[in-house]
Amino acid sequence: MKVYLDNNATTLVDPHVFEAMEPFFVQKYGNPNSLHAFAGETHPHIKTAMEKIYAGINAKKEDSVVITSCATESNNWVLKSVYFEYILTGRKNHIIVSEVEHPSIIATAKFIESMGCRVTYLPINNEGLIEAQSVRDNITNKTALVSVMWANNETGAIFPIEEIGAICEEKKVLFHTDAVQAIGKLPINIQTFNVDYLTFSAHKFHGPKGVGALYMKKGKELMPLLHGGAQMGGHRSGTLNVPGIIGMGKAMEQAVDALDFEMSEIREMRDHFEDELLKIEDTFVVTPREKRTPNTILISFRGIEGESMLWDLNRAGIGASTGSACASEDLEANSVMEAIGADEDLAHTAIRFSLSRYTTQEELDYTLDVVKKAVARLREISSSYSYAPDGHKSGLTAGH
Ligand code: PLP
Repeated sequence: MKVYLDNNATTLVDPHVFEAMEPFFVQKYGNPNSLHAFAGETHPHIKTAMEKIYAGINAKKEDSVVITSCATESNNWVLKSVYFEYILTGRKNHIIVSEVEHPSIIATAKFIESMGCRVTYLPINNEGLIEAQSVRDNITNKTALVSVMWANNETGAIFPIEEIGAICEEKKVLFHTDAVQAIGKLPINIQTFNVDYLTFSAHKFHGPKGVGALYMKKGKELMPLLHGGAQMGGHRSGTLNVPGIIGMGKAMEQAVDALDFEMSEIREMRDHFEDELLKIEDTFVVTPREKRTPNTILISFRGIEGESMLWDLNRAGIGASTGSACASEDLEANSVMEAIGADEDLAHTAIRFSLSRYTTQEELDYTLDVVKKAVARLREISSSYSYAPDGHKSGLTAGH
């Protein structure tokens, strides 16, 4: 059996999305910026797709939703343009990010830090959450931007975006949120609270890879990161990725339609699966499930290297992760587990299971069975996990 439980890394392209994109490779392939019928025939389709994308986050017509090549580009754009417009010019000298942002924020923050910007990395608490008060405490009159993700890719932890947005509005600081892990998992209505910039990426909600977006509130438009032919209303140069835009539009529409299912059925399946996993001795989950996206579990199995567990799972046809896919070639401790101050033993044992609307109960039952066998096998050979005198395994410290 093959089971894909790594949907926070990427998702399968929904067949309807694929079908919607297909004509734009071989038939309707014109460059939308050309001045002939090949271009013109793409226009109504792009317009419809853009309307679906705007509707998906409830952006206003006058706001800008700019299509990018990925969320990494959108995140780089926000931080680098804020650096050019506000820091380099001397108007401000400081930005705030959380310490558990995706590498596309952290690495960019470190880059602009190396160029002279002061950066505060907000810590998470022992539930893996950011506290809005810590944003307030760190804002100065020289702070240009706060960037805090909507939901964390590793734990699924949902951050207090509404409260942070309100603090930024009050303090007149720009607010960006990376909503990559929130779209399709949580209701997103940017009119209900203060967000100046919002990042998302199609491949995380059953759309194609290589297409993302940056929402910019009217009046808060940033200078372009990519200069050139001034496509996308001058906000981002580069020939439009027409199939990508069509695919993201369709995927967004479907994500909105499937949201109730995600928040009820998928959540229930996740909760049941998690309950069963937690019955295994010495297992540990950081963030309470009601404070998490409905599809995600980050669970530690004391005494078992995450990578060894992945190996066993992979041999049984199951795809999971030890955290961010971008970092999983390194045998490093899980960064969120490190950030909450989990001891080494636990930080190296975290496995992330992320479900999607395509996940079935049968797949989860099979995975549970494989996990139980892998835990027994790996603890048997583990040097950091010891036998209790009665022959039962017991962890080094108390379990979950
Ligand atoms: N932000 C978050 C929270 C993510 O989980 C990811 C992907 O893992 C990204 C940004 C980067 O997305 P992309 O692959 O579109 O660059």
